[in-house]
Formats: sequence, structure tokens, C-alpha cells
Amino acid sequence: MGNLSNFSPLEGQTSLKILFAASEAQPLIKTGGLADVAGSLPPALRRLNHDVRLILPAYPEAVEKAIPLKTLATLHLPDHHEPVRLLSGTLSGHLPLYLVDAPSLFERVGNPYTGPDGNDWPDNAQRFALFCRAIASVALNQAGLDWQPDLVHCNDWQTGLVPALIHSEGNRPATLFTIHNMAYQGIFDHAIFRKLQLPPELWSLDGLEFHGNFSFLKGGLAFADRLTTVSPTYAQEICTPEYGYGLEGLLLRRQDRLSGVLNGIDCQFWDPATDPYIPQHFDGDTFHLKRFNKLRLQRELGLPQDENAFLFGHIGRLVEQKGIDMILDILPALASIEDVQVVLLGSGAEHFEDALHDMGERHPEKIVVHLGYNEPLAHRIEAGADCFLMPSRFEPCGLNQLYSLRYGTVPIVRRTGGLADTVVDVNPHTLLDGSATGFVFDEPNTSALWNAVERAVKFRRRPPAWWQKLAMTGMRQDFCWESSARHYLDLYREAILNPIPGQTASA
Ligand code: ADP
Repeated sequence: MGNLSNFSPLEGQTSLKILFAASEAQPLIKTGGLADVAGSLPPALRRLNHDVRLILPAYPEAVEKAIPLKTLATLHLPDHHEPVRLLSGTLSGHLPLYLVDAPSLFERVGNPYTGPDGNDWPDNAQRFALFCRAIASVALNQAGLDWQPDLVHCNDWQTGLVPALIHSEGNRPATLFTIHNMAYQGIFDHAIFRKLQLPPELWSLDGLEFHGNFSFLKGGLAFADRLTTVSPTYAQEICTPEYGYGLEGLLLRRQDRLSGVLNGIDCQFWDPATDPYIPQHFDGDTFHLKRFNKLRLQRELGLPQDENAFLFGHIGRLVEQKGIDMILDILPALASIEDVQVVLLGSGAEHFEDALHDMGERHPEKIVVHLGYNEPLAHRIEAGADCFLMPSRFEPCGLNQLYSLRYGTVPIVRRTGGLADTVVDVNPHTLLDGSATGFVFDEPNTSALWNAVERAVKFRRRPPAWWQKLAMTGMRQDFCWESSARHYLDLYREAILNPIPGQTASA
């Protein structure tokens, strides 16, 4: 490829230039796991000596946190009436950061994807098409930065048009597209396709067209040199009709280029030994101190303070995917167990928020519901709870079970996606070989979840050393980024050396 004049495929140590494109990144702006990944994988790649730069829309919240910024270039992009500024700064003082500043599209307070009414911004297609065009312009070294990446790492539908826009360019970098969640696809109608002035040849079944509409996600799936998703099990699941949302055929055809790379976690930000949000630090050698976090959490949330209470936690978006309806179903029975307490933190669908709120009102001594988004409280729940509920119907990777393991909070999960890949069920065999880390159930229904909860309650009644061993085995698991970052580097090299047939650019 044109930009790879210094790249030698045999030299595994060659430093790569990577443009990492995402619609959110911690700590600038976050709605979910994508932000955790975009905020921690690029720094992990940088620690391995690669030139990684992050590109994001210039939401006001991100701009405020990234200051100081300087204007690097002004772009004139199709289908957009105003000049678009490319701002440069750093993420947390270290990682080079580009922000795409199109005020009429991104200068809005609140959620990156939805307005104050909770509905999608009506111009999301324009917003993220423009973002994709800005990324493409940097990718092709047309933004005046005098820097061209060897590879663009795109994430989720908001960046899905990038591989489609550049695939036929002579001097393009390689592309890798990561699916963080197949449920979000960026589907819009033909009139919008025309309005966006996208290349007409992309309107085809081999291109972006999807059942009479067009799909941003399909742009990534059809045109990227490599595809990844965020766990090995989810990589298999999305090739089936149950999880593929009609795109399983395309994914099956591209399966030789599809891999599952487990998300890592930011082990500095999520470290019970140093976490500034939690009142009592602890680690594998001082597990007995964890109970002070429980007592402080109970006090903070107005629950009776009892270090022997069996405290269940849940944190997440309140949507069906996460099985919050199943949690709601079991809450009355859970609350009826004598020593049990439950803490729930989340925001999302109004009917779930209302139902949870009612549940908290009905059982004030047992159940606390905190609606909203609260990062410090999320850390304190991970630190203070004994058990974490995660009965997801599907879960591409899931991060909270990983944070739970690291904080000695035993996860109860459904065997799907990344949950299946990261939690080892308690059974006689895994107890004997010392690999058990949590309680895993199979069917996505209330009775299967309840069964797993009952197993946890029974296990908890055994001598305390049993529970402690289970929790401490979880704490010893290594889900920090380094090994996953190395896996990505191998895939980046494969993408660079082996671009999709017929798309090879001139050298
Ligand atoms: P998803 O990306 O599907 O929402 P993940 O488990 O991959 O799920 O990541 C969710 C991330 O968002 C985790 O870091 C979790 O702690 C965080 N999170 C979700 N809801 C809340 C909330 N209400 N308050 C604080 N953090 C939250």
C-alpha cells in the first residue's frame, strides 16, 4: 500500500501508525463499553510503541475535557455547508487526539446519539456520515496533517462508512472494523442515502443496501480488510440468525477475516488497590478489607449497615439486552431472603426505570435503586457488593463482569458472548481444580437466573473461606489490555499485508 513504504512484514517490531476512530471515549464522553475500549486500547497500543491517534466528534463535553486544543486544519466536506475544523489535543495528556468540529452537528449538550427526549437525534445519518468523511480525509492524508496511518481501526456503525468510502482509493490505509454490538446498525432510507451524496455505486446488495434501506454497519462489515468483535463466543454467535440481525450471511462469507478479541480493562482506572472513588483500598492479600466498602456503601445508600448482609449489585443500561426484566422478576423473591440486600444503578427505558423505582419504594430496607449515570458510584458498587447480576440476553463482551472479578465481586452471568468467555461456573470439577470464578446459567429466562442466584446463596452459606477463595480466584484473572492489544497488532499486520481482494492499492 502506498503509505507503507517503511513497513516490513517480517519485522514484528515495526512501529505502526494507527488512526483509532470512535464515537465516544472515556474520559471525554461515555455512554457504554465502547468508551471504555476507545479510552484504554489506544493507550495500551501506544505503550507497545505504536503511533496511535484517536479521532472523535467534537462534542462540547469532549472539547471541555480535552482543552487545550488547537486548530490543525479546516476541511471542506461534501454535503456540509460549514467548514469543519480538525482540532488537536491529547487524551489524558498522553494520547494524540483529533476532534472533528462541525458545530451545527455536534455542538449539542447531552448524549452523543439521543436528544433530551431520549430519541435518536433526527440527523444522526448526517452527523456520522460527516464524521466518517473527516476520518476518511485523515486516512487518505488529505486533511493537511502530513501524516497517514497504516491502518484505520473503526468501531461500530458510527464509523462504518469509512471502509466503504476509501476501499477503492489508490493510496488507502488498511482498515479493521470492530463490532461492539450488532444490535445498533445505523439504518436509514434511500432518500437520506441520496441526500448524503454517497457514491451511487455503494447502493447495492454487495455494498450498503439492506432491505431497501442502507446500513452504516454494513459498510464496515462488507468493506473492511479485517473484522473483529469483542469476544470469541460473540464472533461465532453473530454468524447465526439468532444474533446476526440479517447480516449473518455476510458475516459467514467473511468468517475467514472475522476474529473475536476479548476486550481488556483499564487496570489503573479499575484497581481496588488504588481506586480514588472507593473508601477502602484492598487487593488479593487484603481481601478481608473489602467488607468496609460494603459498610460504607450501605451507609451512603441508606441500607441497614451489616457486614454479613449478602449484597447483590447491578450496573448498566436499562434495556432488554441486559435482562433487566429478569432482574425485576426475581427482585421480590430476592428481597424476601433474610440477609439479602440489592443495589441497582442504571438509566434507560422509562418503563424499566419506573418499575425499578417502585421496587425500591416497596422494599426500602432491602433494595436501593439509583437511576442515572454515576461513574464514582459504579466503582463503589463494584467494591462493596458480594455478587454482581448480569443476566444478559446477549453480551458482545461485557465489562462489568470483568470489573466485578477484579474487585472480588462474584458475577452471576448468562452463558453468552463475552460472559461465557470470562466467567468459569462453580461446579464440583471447577471447585476442585480451583478455576471457578462465578455462577453461570444457560437459558435466558427468570427461572434459570433464579436457579443461579439460589446456587450463589447456598454457596455463600458455606464456611467463609469457600466464598473468599471463589472471589480471590476472580481477582487473580488478568483482563488487562496487554495481551488483547498484542492480538490486535497481529490482526493489524494481517490487514495491512492482506487487504481484501480487488482492493489492493498501488504501492
Ligand atoms: P454496554 O456497552 O452494552 O453498555 P458494557 O458492560 O460493555 O455494556 O459497558 C458498560 C459500561 O458503562 C461499564 O463501564 C459500566 O460500568 C458503565 N455504566 C453503564 N451504566 C452506568 C451507570 N448508570 N452509571 C455508571 N456507569 C455505567
